[in-house]
Amino acid sequence: MDKKICIKVLKFGGECLRNSENILKTVEIIMSEKCFPIVVISAAEGITDLLIDGIIRSKEKEVNVSETISELTAKHYEIAQESIANNTVLNKTFRNITLLVKKVERLLYGVSYTDEVTEAVRAHIISYGERIAAVVMSGILEDKGIDSTVIETDKIGLVTNKSSSEQYENATVNLEEFKRKFKFTAQTIINGGIIPIMTGFFGSTPDGKVTTFGRNGSDYTASVMAYGFEAKELIIWKDTEAFTSADQKLVREAKVIERLSYYEAAELSYFSDRILHPLTIEPIAGTGIPIVIKNIHTPEAKGTIISSDAYIDENIIKSIAYNKNICMIRIHGTGIGYKPGLMREIGNALSEENINIFATVTSQTTINILLESKDADTSFGILNNIKGGGLIERVDFIRNVVLVAIVGEGLLKRRGIFAKILNAVSLMKVNVEMASAGASEVAIYIIIPNDDLWDVVNVIHNEFFS
Ligand code: ASP
Ligand code: MG
Repeated sequence: MDKKICIKVLKFGGECLRNSENILKTVEIIMSEKCFPIVVISAAEGITDLLIDGIIRSKEKEVNVSETISELTAKHYEIAQESIANNTVLNKTFRNITLLVKKVERLLYGVSYTDEVTEAVRAHIISYGERIAAVVMSGILEDKGIDSTVIETDKIGLVTNKSSSEQYENATVNLEEFKRKFKFTAQTIINGGIIPIMTGFFGSTPDGKVTTFGRNGSDYTASVMAYGFEAKELIIWKDTEAFTSADQKLVREAKVIERLSYYEAAELSYFSDRILHPLTIEPIAGTGIPIVIKNIHTPEAKGTIISSDAYIDENIIKSIAYNKNICMIRIHGTGIGYKPGLMREIGNALSEENINIFATVTSQTTINILLESKDADTSFGILNNIKGGGLIERVDFIRNVVLVAIVGEGLLKRRGIFAKILNAVSLMKVNVEMASAGASEVAIYIIIPNDDLWDVVNVIHNEFFS
């Protein structure tokens, strides 16, 4: 890539198109960017859900298709109307919206008539949220006198891996291959000098079928593009604060975190729902490209900078995060620790059903498996049927628990951190179901009953931040 040109990838979430105030701020941010901006955009707020719901409802009844279609049209017309002053540009934008909505309509009738929807069809339909958002954004920019081109990411070689089970809705990108093949396209875009508005959230299989990166996947697209364009920086724009020292709904005095390492951010993105897609860090962790998370309402504030700088804060702890969507299954047996291959048997049985293990902690007599709550019942059934050479005595199910992660570079190297956490928690008379330190260099996990979440997060926050 031509090193003389400064390139930044700017990713805007669906909230940025929420109302004319947010749209105006978004446009100002794009206009005032001094580097060449590669804009990556998510679907407008609520649109992906509308499409997902529309697929289910179209399968039920043909008349439901037109309801989804009217809503899809109305929502985007409204955004365009609110923010585009020039009539010619507005009408052109309406036409572009309608062209895309028509395609959604045909696809939904297909679902309705065939009474069938494969993962591939679903992925294709929900990709329209981003496609429509991109033409709306392009219209808004044109109205302000800025040229842009819409780039649909299934048409430019954003090729994704397919696992053996043909994953259409949780795809990832083979980075090196992508970058090699994308070089020419990237250079053409830069040479053209016209701001690209790229659709987030999806790519395609090698033969051109749409695949998505899972919910919130536009963050991942933006990171892959930062990697492909060798950008100077990736900025993820939101309309809320980014990473904070704790959930502000639980801890009022929680503050925005100024700096995070890639590892800290990767840990936190698995917990702090919807701040970052869990895979966002991966494409650029090896490159040193920083990610900055910023709020469109306070663009002059620094936001959270995520970089390779593994800086150790004097507090050590940077954030206390939690995940409520987990459950724990405990497998007991006095001889478990001696049995080779048992973990593999468990892992295979669960992966055959596409169940992802969040974490495991084992001892000689117990295997603790953390799973997403949605997989709880299926997993419990599967694990109860595992023979384990007759060594398994009992399988217990522990529900209504929450996983708390205490994250910070250096926490393994500083003596007494783990003790300080457990001490604080025990003062609240909370029973810790499980704790794990050392599995990650930047995180300590504890599992506690749901009802104790407020107490635990506050007491730990207080211990380290006041
Ligand atoms: N539109 C997709 C979603 O709602 C992807 C994204 O917003 O990043 O999950
Ligand atoms: Mg998001």
